[in-house]
Amino acid sequence: MNNHYDIIIIGAGPAGMSASCLASKYKVKILVLDVAISPGGQIFRAVETNQSSHKQKFGANYLNGIKLVNKFRKCSIDYQSRAKVWHLSENGEVHYLKDNKTHFVKAKHILITTGAQERPFPVTGWTLNRVMTAGAAQILLKESNLGIQNAVFVGTGPLLYLIAHQYLMMGIPIKAVIDTTPLSNYFRAIPKIVGIRGNFNEIYKGIKWIGDIKKSNTFFINRISDLRILGDEEVNAIEYQKNGQWNKIECEHVLLHQGLVPEINISLSVGCRKIWNQQQACWNIDVDKWFQSSLPCISVAGDASSISGAVAAEASGKIAALNILAKLNIITAKNRDQLAIPIQKSLKTEMSIRTFLETLFNPISRFRIPNNNDTIVCRCEEVLAGEIRESVDLGSKGPNQTKSFTRCGMGPCQGRLCGLTVAEIIADQLNCSIEEVGYYRIRPPVTPITLGELSTTKMTTPEKQANQL
Ligand SMILES: Cc1cc2nc3c(=O)[nH]c(=O)nc-3n(C[C@H](O)[C@H](O)[C@H](O)COP(=O)(O)OP(=O)(O)OC[C@H]3O[C@@H](n4cnc5c(N)ncnc54)[C@H](O)[C@@H]3O)c2cc1C
Repeated sequence: MNNHYDIIIIGAGPAGMSASCLASKYKVKILVLDVAISPGGQIFRAVETNQSSHKQKFGANYLNGIKLVNKFRKCSIDYQSRAKVWHLSENGEVHYLKDNKTHFVKAKHILITTGAQERPFPVTGWTLNRVMTAGAAQILLKESNLGIQNAVFVGTGPLLYLIAHQYLMMGIPIKAVIDTTPLSNYFRAIPKIVGIRGNFNEIYKGIKWIGDIKKSNTFFINRISDLRILGDEEVNAIEYQKNGQWNKIECEHVLLHQGLVPEINISLSVGCRKIWNQQQACWNIDVDKWFQSSLPCISVAGDASSISGAVAAEASGKIAALNILAKLNIITAKNRDQLAIPIQKSLKTEMSIRTFLETLFNPISRFRIPNNNDTIVCRCEEVLAGEIRESVDLGSKGPNQTKSFTRCGMGPCQGRLCGLTVAEIIADQLNCSIEEVGYYRIRPPVTPITLGELSTTKMTTPEKQANQL
């Protein structure tokens, strides 16, 4: 029964790697599945293969990632790279794609650590060619050493400034940075500084990134109130509004970013309960202090449950692993509690900066809810904001009804890129809360799979195999 494990971990980022390293010390049988070609997750992407001169330019956090990746490589676990999970069930069954074939495995407990995705940024022109997310540009840089020259960076959030800074460190010229953080966010965020314990370094880093960008002679404009991206098939300019005046920057590439939201589709597809996080303006997976979800065999840690950053993700992965070990009777609950104390303490310190960050970088509703009815919301099925509003006028009360009226959320991404926007437009139109409107009902497969690949599935469970012998 070599496809039967104690724990299956989905995702080899900081949360998944730290959980694997901790649990593997207890001689449990662990399988780690990750769609990427090497371990590291988003933050430590390609950290093993990047030239050391480049690593330096990505910053100290990136350099430190190699220690965790090396530790993970030495763990006694079964690690499958290029393995994309497309279905799991609440009794521990996991289906994944690798080498164009689907594979079936089972575990007593599943830990989901699939991380975050960038928040949709549905402004006029966001679907034009040569407009992409800043995160996608960073992936190109880390994995293939490819930079996009003279791009305009637009949006808000620490990752936007980090990536722009990494570009400058790599010597890739930037045409402009358009910062959408409103002044009111600063006023609301500054009082929250008193709650921060110990990790002020993150604030200094952010100030330095912005300072370096400004010093580099890159055109930097902040506190804009509106924007639109122009072009026929591909972008040729971006216009922004400041103090009531529209201004234009001619450009060939635009990189958008307005923060991160948890990648929830996998957790929702299996039936984990979700909760709306008003401060982060997104859905979180409802987990307890051990990162246990509402389903007994499923835990969700790291950014996949709630955006908390890489250091917190590492801590949450360890805490989840301790709880799973206790559930599997490998350690006692008392042991779990004792071992978790220092990790929970460091997690608490790490999390103390979140309220400040989330208040400062909360994207304004103007950039979450398109006011132009011609803006595409569902990129896969090309459904416009106006069509979503029309579906509400016709009686739709939530994303699932709107999905059957318009096909939004039915394409290859299964609503990952439009789910939040669709729900926010409907809530806005009905003048009710997001909780009342809800979210798409996510069903497998959570990622595209061809019929040919599906036909390679062997539906025999380990139990059935044993019975047949
Ligand atoms: C594009 C992007 C770039 C980022 N860059 C930085 C950065 O430079 N610095 C920084 O501090 N923070 C960065 N972040 C934030 C960062 O994701 C987190 O702080 C941290 O990496 C979270 O760790 P994690 O383990 O929770 O998730 P991640 O590190 O995101 O790891 C999740 C892993 O799950 C895998 N996965 C996802 N879905 C599946 C599936 N269906 N099947 C199999 N595997 C799957 C992914 O391949 C990934 O390796 C970035 C986020 C994004 C979205």
